[in-house]
Amino acid sequence: MSRSEELFERARKVVPGGVNSPVRAFGAVGGTPVFIASGKGARVRDADGRELIDFVASWGPLILGHAPAVVERAVAEALRAGTSFGAPTAAEVDLADDVRSFVPSMEMVRLVSSGTEACMSAVRLARAFTGRDRILKFAGCYHGHSDTFLVKAGSGALTLGVPSSPGVPGAVAALTLNARYNDVEDARGLFAKHRGEVAAVIVEPVAGNMGVVPPRAGFLGGLRKLCDENGTVLIFDEVITGFRVAPGGAQALYGIRPDLTILGKILGGGLPLAAFGGRGAIMERLAPSGPVYQAGTLSGNPLATAAGRAMLAALKDGAVHRRLEERSARFEEGLRRAIEAARVEACVNRVGSMLTLFFTRGPVTDLDSLSGVKTDRYARFFHALLDRGVYFPPAQYEAFFISDAHTDRDLDQALAAIREVLGSI
Ligand code: PMP
Repeated sequence: MSRSEELFERARKVVPGGVNSPVRAFGAVGGTPVFIASGKGARVRDADGRELIDFVASWGPLILGHAPAVVERAVAEALRAGTSFGAPTAAEVDLADDVRSFVPSMEMVRLVSSGTEACMSAVRLARAFTGRDRILKFAGCYHGHSDTFLVKAGSGALTLGVPSSPGVPGAVAALTLNARYNDVEDARGLFAKHRGEVAAVIVEPVAGNMGVVPPRAGFLGGLRKLCDENGTVLIFDEVITGFRVAPGGAQALYGIRPDLTILGKILGGGLPLAAFGGRGAIMERLAPSGPVYQAGTLSGNPLATAAGRAMLAALKDGAVHRRLEERSARFEEGLRRAIEAARVEACVNRVGSMLTLFFTRGPVTDLDSLSGVKTDRYARFFHALLDRGVYFPPAQYEAFFISDAHTDRDLDQALAAIREVLGSI
């Protein structure tokens, strides 16, 4: 029995499903989850001492790779000064200023501890600001696990939502409308049906939670217009795309200014930290300046804030993003050639350093286009790569990430493994 197997057996007795977040359990690919002991640069070491080239990157935060020296130093220094005060610190103000300089639409910023918390709070704020209850999201997008968002579309986009998890009250789910991703007209139809009732449109400006799905030309701009026409708050959930697809996130890449933005992942430098922010007139409604309640004991935690500041400082001059674009484009090209050579039905979506290889002819543009995806083939692909020391996400409908720590050698080694594997599954 491997050490990971032993640990998983123990874990299942004390932690539901043996993991603290479902996708980690390998349910989508089968087998025993790899327990990680440590990580440095582009590589992790598992509990059995095996070294793996990591493309999960903690699901997005690690744009500099594991344990980058700049973040290590900043956290060590913060640690010596105390781990939590529950009182304001200078570093929180500095981080809010940093965020504003990267993402100018975020005139004011509130720090929280997770993306879930940030999305939940932003929607409460948008509801209070507009005095409306409904929100519109897109099928296949993920905005954390608060009740409002655990809703999938019924049969067709005009159907009211039904909860996709027990425990979510039907009355809450009914307030969530689902439109087709990349389809402004579908959203427009829902607005027409619920005129004057939609508080917020929330969208991943590049979808990352049904695998990577780029926005079609005109999609984000169309949503901006729709929101302006209807007095609705436009929220970009940039938990994955923030600081990832460009230093200023997807809103900089596509030139669309949302009213509110959600950040997480990279913002915390690998520690638990997230944020929401945007137009001052909306943000000023938050307690204690306004009546909309939102709070957190560990919000703006000194270790997380220090890690985040160090991370953003490393991204400031744009050199990291230039390198990432060049390497990611080369990796994408390598994947395409490998797919062609293996004559396997697959396609690649990429925006910057976030990518997905889908086992379908494609193109993948929304949730519906995933219906023909061969997830069993992905499972074999995943395990064959793992056997060759390459750690991809243990689920087809996820993004994988290239970090600044991935060297040409790492990427070539991974591509060689992928070529070999694609030919044999
Ligand atoms: N929004 C998006 C777009 C996400 O990808 C995620 C997490 N993957 C979340 C929100 C929730 O963030 P967290 O896991 O930190 O609660």
